[in-house]
Amino acid sequence: MLKTRGYAALTAGAQIAPFDFERREPRSEDVVIEITYAGICHSDIHQVREEWGSSLFPMVPGHEIVGKVISIGEKAKKFSVGQIVGVGVFVDSCRKCENCLAGVEQYCLEGMTGTYNGLERDGVTVAQGGYSKVIVVAEDYVVTIPANLELANVAPLLCAGITLYSPLRHWEAGPGKKVAILGLGGLGHMGVKYAKAMGAEVTVFSHSPEKHEDALAMGATHFVAKASKEDFKRLAKNFDLILNTVSVDLNLEDYLGMLKLDGTLVLIGLPGAPYSVPAGVLLGQRRRLAGSMIGGVRELQEMLDFSGEHNITSDVEVIAPDYINTAWDRTVKSDVKYRFVIDISKV
Ligand code: NAP
Ligand code: ZN
Ligand code: ZN
Repeated sequence: MLKTRGYAALTAGAQIAPFDFERREPRSEDVVIEITYAGICHSDIHQVREEWGSSLFPMVPGHEIVGKVISIGEKAKKFSVGQIVGVGVFVDSCRKCENCLAGVEQYCLEGMTGTYNGLERDGVTVAQGGYSKVIVVAEDYVVTIPANLELANVAPLLCAGITLYSPLRHWEAGPGKKVAILGLGGLGHMGVKYAKAMGAEVTVFSHSPEKHEDALAMGATHFVAKASKEDFKRLAKNFDLILNTVSVDLNLEDYLGMLKLDGTLVLIGLPGAPYSVPAGVLLGQRRRLAGSMIGGVRELQEMLDFSGEHNITSDVEVIAPDYINTAWDRTVKSDVKYRFVIDISKV
């Protein structure tokens, strides 16, 4: 076993505190990564606070991981010692179902192995995440990082970045398409940057009026603060694609009404409570309500390469680990510009 140190919640809702634990003994196809930075995703908070149901404790959260390869197993061929790499929201899957074979391992029919708050495929070992110094991961679930990007600003791409990139590609955001992003948080701000880079016209809906200038600087053409009934009326039948990244419940009927014929509203934020949607608003313009979850390993690499080519990274506030609890409280209050990233060298 490999001893390491991280930051964990020992019980549901507990404060995050230093925690010594062991990683699995590296296997022949594994790479051992010394973590440099880990982003703070709102999903870390939902899971420690059991907002999605019961979780496994102690929990070391963190699934936006970048770091340096410090050793490789004898059968691992894709990476070399010293290389800068990333790990996202899952670290394994069954590798043989039709979805795994199609490169969408996040939808593995047997269930993906989450980077934390789940069991590894042996059904016994609890997976622990990136708020820690070292992680051991099978090489097939590790990606390379473009050398031209600032590493601290890359960490959030491993979840926030791919989670917006994937639906923008799937629903073909591009020139001539009008895309709305709901919520300018960690996920939302990456959505604005990617949608703009793909050539779409971007509108941001936010409940934080002070984010207006930032939204335009990131590439949005329009910014709607605290949308009113007038706004929903003015923008009725206007958008091809709406990506909802908001971490709390919204009145979806208002937003669905802004989709044009065959437009799609994609649920990405995961507040926990069920949504209620009247059928009429979907029937009206043959609208679609869909969901999307992160992206597969191949698409993760494609998103990183695209980010390298277009010089896209996250706007981050780098923090020391003793600030994690404050950072979480600030994230819940939407007081983050636009992602907290932990400097793991200080763990
Ligand atoms: P975040 O940084 O906290 O951003 C959420 C944004 O939602 C906030 O910045 C805020 O934007 C808006 N918001 C928050 N409270 C609100 C309120 N009371 N009323 C209206 N708007 C509010 O969170 P995140 O890390 O981007 O994650 C967003 C959600 O996506 C979370 O539920 C997370 O679990 C989920 N998620 C899903 C996936 C997936 O694969 N589908 C992956 C990662 C995360 P404004 O200030 O602009 O209004
Ligand atoms: Zn996440
Ligand atoms: Zn599978």
